[in-house]
Amino acid sequence: MLQKIWLSSPHMGGREFEYVKEAFDTNWIAPLGPNVNGFEKDLEAFLENDSKAAALSSGTASLHLALILLDVKRGDEVICQSLTFSASANPIIYQGATPIFVDSEADTWNMSPELLEIAIKDRLKKGKKPKAIIPVHLYGMPCKMHELMSIAQKYDIPIIEDAAEALGSKYENQPLGTFGIMSILSFNGNKIITTSGGGALISKKQSLIDTARFLATQARDAAPHYEHSHIGYNYRMSNICAGIGRGQMEVLDLRVKQRRENFDKYREILKDLPGISFLSEPDGFFSNRWLTTILVNPHQSGGITREDIRLELEKNNIESRPLWKPMHLQPIFKDAPFYGDGTSEQLFDRGLCLPSASNLSVSDQKNITDIIQRIFKKSSLS
Ligand SMILES: *Cc1c(COP(=O)(O)O)cnc(C)c1O
Repeated sequence: MLQKIWLSSPHMGGREFEYVKEAFDTNWIAPLGPNVNGFEKDLEAFLENDSKAAALSSGTASLHLALILLDVKRGDEVICQSLTFSASANPIIYQGATPIFVDSEADTWNMSPELLEIAIKDRLKKGKKPKAIIPVHLYGMPCKMHELMSIAQKYDIPIIEDAAEALGSKYENQPLGTFGIMSILSFNGNKIITTSGGGALISKKQSLIDTARFLATQARDAAPHYEHSHIGYNYRMSNICAGIGRGQMEVLDLRVKQRRENFDKYREILKDLPGISFLSEPDGFFSNRWLTTILVNPHQSGGITREDIRLELEKNNIESRPLWKPMHLQPIFKDAPFYGDGTSEQLFDRGLCLPSASNLSVSDQKNITDIIQRIFKKSSLS
């Protein structure tokens, strides 16, 4: 059997180990230290726009703290994109609040501005003003930020950008992660850069970042003994992980280029197969193309479905995966309110993520496209 081809594997740049070794040599083996500070500086320099960063233990922890900083608590409502990974919504539940799910639009697959406004109006009519809005830049594609932000402004509800998949993407030339009052990043093993596991909270507001760091380190008040006037969390990033992050930041631009080249190659080879389509970037949208995704329309493909392709790849030891299953269809969220028009459901039915690692070899990618082309050839012969 050939070696397994993964959807999105880690890809070290080369200098990560030097930073980690320095941490060992200086005995900074702790959830603080020079690499943590350095990694935060690197993120701030990359994002510009007065960004401040708190390096944390995961993207999920970052989102949890963002909700705490907005005082989301039991009985509150928070609007969240339905088509996403469950980690976008779980922290709402951690706070005892209710997620209100909103469907996607077809141009970016992200939160529909029209449905967002319908949802807000209806929640207001029912007597509750949502505490926050969580749009997600799925697979690296920016949301329609201008439209979402003007609605958020109109109703005075803060936006937390879930940019976990979108480091390196831009909207009208401005990096994603710099639009919301806060935004979160993830450095999990499968993301565009990784610290093995980790995340960050980003904001222009220094006070929010200071409070996030305070809460993330067990909320210790200033005193010689341990004194607590807040509930704390153990959410800080380790100095070892941050060392990996510093090395990864040196190759982030290259990783974006490599992921975008994967996308271009897939599109060039597969775009003429009947029923297969790719998501283009609208004017002013720049995606890091974290994962290359395709839609398979069985009415145009001679009956070939997304599952036919996924299973054939699996037979060849190649990992691919359906798009995120929308949250409003998840058993755990079945009782949560949802405002939709069927868009995310259809995307889930037809969408497939293809292997997209920045270290995907030319020959592995050719193997993948050959297999997909053969499925279509066989079907046109029969
Ligand atoms: C990965 C991811 C997260 C969670 O990040 P972790 O670092 O794995 O906790 C949140 N939202 C989205 C959209 C993600 O893809």
